[in-house]
Amino acid sequence: MSLESYVSKRNFDSSPEPRGTERVLGTKNRLVFVIQKHSARVLHFDLRLELNGVFKSWAIPLGPSLDPKVKRLAVEVEDHPLSYGGFEGVIPSGQYGAGSVIVWDRGTWHPETDPSSSLALGKIKFRLNGERLRGNWSLIRTRQHATQPQWLLVKLQDDEASTTVDVVSAFSNSVLSNESLATIGRLPDFIEPKLPSLTKSAPSGDVWLHELKLDGYRMQAHWGADHVRLLTRARIDWTSRFGNLANALSKLPRDIVKCCVQKTLN
Ligand code: MN
Repeated sequence: MSLESYVSKRNFDSSPEPRGTERVLGTKNRLVFVIQKHSARVLHFDLRLELNGVFKSWAIPLGPSLDPKVKRLAVEVEDHPLSYGGFEGVIPSGQYGAGSVIVWDRGTWHPETDPSSSLALGKIKFRLNGERLRGNWSLIRTRQHATQPQWLLVKLQDDEASTTVDVVSAFSNSVLSNESLATIGRLPDFIEPKLPSLTKSAPSGDVWLHELKLDGYRMQAHWGADHVRLLTRARIDWTSRFGNLANALSKLPRDIVKCCVQKTLN
């Protein structure tokens, strides 16, 4: 297993997704799972099961069903780094998987048999202990010929099974932040700027750099739907005073700007 495919598909200068390395997250008896809801070209749910230092991953177009009679298509995709398990945010347009991602469920998974050999054989039964999904499930690889292996995710009969609850519509927000796909990554209306405080002497030491204060105004640029607004540190709109600047800024790619601000805020 390796993250080569994961890394080769992405540009980490433009996408806020974690670069990640292979490592062990859970212990041998405690493997982590996560399901992310992802509004890419087509909305889908990404099931990720920790195994041997990475997340084995499947994209499930319709999401999981609690009804044992319902089989949900799960397309095997590239392994993801374990650091991806906490990822929520907006993958900029033009990037692989562009769209919003939220963590829809997370917890531990418990394979009934040796997970590596069961997955290689194309049939695995496991228990989920998540915030929304629990009980016994199975993944079965079909004989369908396709570019990526096709599996079916099926709920097994137990107390957690239900023919009446549609778990996908019952829970739509993130279990981490309670954000929805629409609100995740939305930028604040204003970011309180850091202000200097008065002291009697300047700090010294190698960690400090001193420079002359140049006169001017500290401005915040906000990218709206169709225009850029410039705000002073006291939140006063000075766009009209710096029209040229607002114009020039509005020509920067919006997604790139959003991505940079998001990284700064995080
Ligand atoms: Mn996805």
